[in-house]
This record gives sequence, structure tokens and C-alpha cells, in this order.
Amino acid sequence: MASLRFFCATNISVSTKHKAKVDKKCVVHQKVKNLINTLELPSISSSSSTPLESLQRGNWVKLICGASFEDVVDIRNLSLVYTLAGVDCIDCAADASVVSAVNEGIEAARDILCCLRRPWVMISVNDDKDLHFRKAEFDPEDCPSDCSRPCENVCPANAISFQEKSTSQISCNTEAPRVLKDGVITERCYGCGRCLPVCPYDKIREVTYVRDAVTTSDLIKRNDVDAIEIHTSARQSRLFEELWRALADSVENLKLVAVSLPNVGDSTISSMNKMYSIMKPNLRNFNLWQLDGRPMSGDIGRGATKESIAFAVQLAKAKDRPPGFLQLAGGTNAHTIEGMKKEGLFRTTSLKYLDHENSTVSTSNSSCALISGIAYGGYARKIVGRVLRSMQSQHGGAASIEDHPEHLLLALREALALVGPVKCL
Ligand code: SF4
Ligand code: SF4
Repeated sequence: MASLRFFCATNISVSTKHKAKVDKKCVVHQKVKNLINTLELPSISSSSSTPLESLQRGNWVKLICGASFEDVVDIRNLSLVYTLAGVDCIDCAADASVVSAVNEGIEAARDILCCLRRPWVMISVNDDKDLHFRKAEFDPEDCPSDCSRPCENVCPANAISFQEKSTSQISCNTEAPRVLKDGVITERCYGCGRCLPVCPYDKIREVTYVRDAVTTSDLIKRNDVDAIEIHTSARQSRLFEELWRALADSVENLKLVAVSLPNVGDSTISSMNKMYSIMKPNLRNFNLWQLDGRPMSGDIGRGATKESIAFAVQLAKAKDRPPGFLQLAGGTNAHTIEGMKKEGLFRTTSLKYLDHENSTVSTSNSSCALISGIAYGGYARKIVGRVLRSMQSQHGGAASIEDHPEHLLLALREALALVGPVKCL
């Protein structure tokens, strides 16, 4: 009898706790709905605004989680917050668990607001050595114990960690020497490279990699991947062509194919035309050129965005560029729109498209935005990341942001301050 009473009491207590949790969730869902209703973001209030329409109107916003960033807890929470804020696309590493985390975040956001349209999920791959596809690495046990750890301070991703531990062999009367462990948290390192030059003992190495085409092809066949982005140096086309051939059959099912390239000066347009001619036979969908100004630097400050704006100005003038939407990235941040306005980049142009029947490029009578939108990476992660760190320090590293209303609302305000101005253009 005693054990039955215990069983019933436990059940009642579990059910009370469960009810309290459900009630708390309802309250946060309502608060988030109220906030969004106040802001009346067009991408959220209008069910007809698809990611494709955003590209055509020029108010497309992409969240870049990072081609090498693989912290699935952060990625899920970032995806949730930025889906609520109304992004059109979420770009992430070409890794199955990362893609699942993005989709989980999106669905969690849609559980809060069922009217939300689903942003496209894009995976990023590379055709050759590329800054976005590298990790820092060092052995913390090799670090001098008196090092002031500038690597830890400079890392924008909190990807370098040291935990103190003392060895059991040390007697009680002897001060334990500091032994460092952990080093680079691989899944959090996104390859920005800022730690490499600051190590006074030259202990940090960079490890580069190229995403495997077969794995990528399998990933694309999943029904929760909508787009791919190929990062290329734009200096040679052989490796681009090899990768494209390996992916050609699978990319046909995607909604968008993006190519991310740096500004290579006078040869930029000819490189783009060459890549377009390689893609053309298998291109059954829309394509986009990501103008990567100053890679992975948006969190640094106002000046970081200048290169991507200058790149856009250069492309806007080029009459002979291939078809495809143009989108800024690399150094983009809260100052990007202001810079684009100064350069008169918010205007329309005639739409070039690929006529699949004749395999020719045609010009449509309708017009679309000259610049289709902006991708935000380091800056977007930084402003919401601050809230995530604060939440994790209070509630643990695996916390889901929707379970913590005050943090979700803070994070959403940060995200809306970045996404909202583009959406309201
Ligand atoms: S490369 Fe960048 S993200 Fe990676 S550990 Fe170094 S500073 Fe941090
Ligand atoms: S700066 Fe270099 S030596 Fe110092 S802790 Fe970092 S990796 Fe080790």
C-alpha cells in the first residue's frame, strides 16, 4: 500500500510539473506572438511571401550558421530564433546532424507560430581549399603554463576553452601546476583564423578540408534540404567542374544553387560566365551569386561591410554578367543597408533567366531587384549568441531557447533588429 501511495504521489507530482511546463510554454508562445504582431513583419504576416519572392523583391535574408560551425545545440537555437525573425534561408554545414538541427529549430519555431513559412535550408560545400572550410587545432598540453592565452580572448566563437585540473600525484602541501586541457572545441570552431597569428609560441595549426561530394549528394536527396552553395576561389574552373559533375544529378531537385565567390578583380565576370556555362546543362532551378566581400568578419565592426558593398557596386555595373540573383555576404552587419543605400543599390533591373527548352539566356519583361538580398553570418551569430551564452550559463549547455521565455524574447529582439530593416525595405 505504501508503495502504491508513493507511486500515485509521484505520478501526481510529475503531472503537476508537466502541466506547469506546458503552461509556461503557452505563456512564452503568446508573448512571442504579441511581439511579432506589433512588428508586423511582411515575411511573417503575409503567407504569400515565399523565399523566391523575397529574392525577386530584394528583401531576401539568409542566416549563415557557418560552413564549418557544427555545434548542434547553438545551430538549433539560432535556427529557431531567426526563423521567427523571418529569414528566407538558413545556410549550414553539409553534415547530416547539422541539417537535422536546423530543421528541428525551424519546426520548433513553427510550433510557436504555425503561420510561419518555412525558410529554405541550404548546405555549403567547397571545390578546393577555402577559408570557410578549416579548423584550428593545437595541443593544450604543449602550451606554456604562463601563457596569457590570447587565443582564448580573440576567438569570436568561444571555441577555445581551458579547464584547470590538478594531478593526483601532487601532495597536499605542493601547489598543483596548472595543466591545460580541452584546447579547440572542434564543433564550435568555424575557421575564422583569428587565433592563428596571436599565439606567441606558434602552437596553433590550421586544418583544411574539402566536403566529400558523395556525402553531399546523399544529403541533397533528403527532403529537408532546399539549396546548395558552392564556395569557390573563382581562380580556376577545373575543380569547380569536377564537383559540379559529381553533384549534377542530385542538384536538379533543389530550389536554388548558389555560388559563393570572392572578388577577383577584372577576371570576376569571366570566371562567373565560365562557371555558369559549366552549370547550365544541369540547372533546372534558380541560381544565385554570393558576393563574399571580407569573409567571416561581420562581427568586427562598421568597416567590415565595405568590401561586400564595393563588390556589389562592381557587379551592378557589369553588363555581361551571367543570369542569377546577387546577394551580399562577407563582412555584412548592421551597417550594410546604410552603405547599400548610399551606393544606390536598391533599384530594379530586367530579369535574365535560362530558357530550359532552348537552353538560351533570355531577358524577361518583368523586372526584379538589382541586389536580391543579404546574408548575415558572424554578426547574426554574435548578437543572438550573447543571449544563448547567458541562457546556457544559467540553465546548462543543452538548453532549448523556447523553454526560457525571457531569453527567447531577448534573442528575438536582437534578430529582428537585423532582419527587420531588410524585410521592411
Ligand atoms: S579559427 Fe576562429 S573560431 Fe576557430 S578557434 Fe581560432 S579564433 Fe576560434
Ligand atoms: S596562445 Fe598559444 S601557447 Fe598560449 S594558450 Fe593559446 S595556443 Fe597555447
